[in-house]
Amino acid sequence: MNYFNYKNSELCAEDVSLKTIAKEVGTPFYVYSYQTIKRHFDVFTQSLKNSSHLVCYSVKANSNLSLLKMLSSWGGGMDVVSGGELKRALKVGVDPHKIVFSGVGKTKEEIGEALKSEILMLNVESREELDLINAAARELHVKAPVSLRVNPDIDARTHPHITTGLYKNKFGLPFERALDEYLYARKQLHLNVVGIDCHIGSQLTELGPFISAVQKVKEFIQTLEKYDLHIEYVDLGGGLGITYNEETPPHPEEYGKVISDIMKGMKLTLIFEPGRVIMGNAGVLVSQVLYNKQTPAKNFLIVDAAMNDLIRPSLYNAYQQIVSIDKKEGDQLQVDVVGPICESGDYLGKERMLPRMKKGELIAVMSSGAYGFSMSSNYNTRGRVPEVMVKNDKFYVIRERESFDDLIKNEKIIEL
Ligand SMILES: *Cc1c(COP(=O)(O)O)cnc(C)c1O
Repeated sequence: MNYFNYKNSELCAEDVSLKTIAKEVGTPFYVYSYQTIKRHFDVFTQSLKNSSHLVCYSVKANSNLSLLKMLSSWGGGMDVVSGGELKRALKVGVDPHKIVFSGVGKTKEEIGEALKSEILMLNVESREELDLINAAARELHVKAPVSLRVNPDIDARTHPHITTGLYKNKFGLPFERALDEYLYARKQLHLNVVGIDCHIGSQLTELGPFISAVQKVKEFIQTLEKYDLHIEYVDLGGGLGITYNEETPPHPEEYGKVISDIMKGMKLTLIFEPGRVIMGNAGVLVSQVLYNKQTPAKNFLIVDAAMNDLIRPSLYNAYQQIVSIDKKEGDQLQVDVVGPICESGDYLGKERMLPRMKKGELIAVMSSGAYGFSMSSNYNTRGRVPEVMVKNDKFYVIRERESFDDLIKNEKIIEL
């Protein structure tokens, strides 16, 4: 469900034509729909209404400050994976008691900042990290709230780069060793063991792997209780998939219900870390046609957005729908939609049927709200593009286009 629709033969975000925005901010740009984000957040939250829960949006999916502010104003917490993301969340006023800190490689400085900010908990991924957190907490004379991330060795059946719950992945503590780690953590004077955490991957399109993981976690919590270890929070991560093409992921309502049912009767707060399911279909990337080019093998539509703006197609061979912003009848052409970057891997879509497009006309790459801007780079000395938020019939630039001066501001010209 999203609010990107054609009105008067022009693709609109809510009540604003994307052509209007392009005239104002130039191309390429990302545009997000407020009502879509709100709806996704509400549906997700609603699905958990029968359990004590906290929704911690996964900041890495899209970390724009205006977006974080919106989510926070609706009661959302945040899942952060770096000191930078932690600062973003704090900057927009997220209640620290709604912030969880995940990731395999937290530095001592990041841990110190998290402890000083009094966040809800750190999701710990190794024995060495437990020791470092204990040491950092001792120095600050506090007790660090921790939850241990377990790796259930379950195949999320998604792209190998975004599978995280297999033993060959770098994430979490192997299940067999988790009990020892809990008993170890309990003995540390400056750790307060409050939770358990499990995130098995991203863009999951079936409930099966979630169910297996939650069942394993539940059994493990019961084991912990036998050792008189009582936890308060079960963090089940994110990972719920969306429809990019023909996937049919479970509806959040079904997902919420199945998990709540498994966990029923346990006196615990459930934490979720959704990213893609909130933002994925709430944003599109708008780009302008630069050239049409034919070779004996292919037709290329060369546009002004590239892999530095949206890397998912190049990185994961991900499919994202591409459409013309002017609704066009008539014959279609098979094209590869490519950017200006000097790499053959620089494409947004391959072998797509599109109406005949002329120089200056606009396309939209759909489902670009998550892992779009947040994964963008300056490769080829291209400034990162603006981000725009539409709400009803108004739009707001929530990030300006990067200038050349922005790009070189930390560089020094030294004569050698
Ligand atoms: C990336 C990530 C998420 C969000 O995943 P989505 O698939 O976007 O929902 C949640 N938790 C952790 C620990 C992550 O690394």
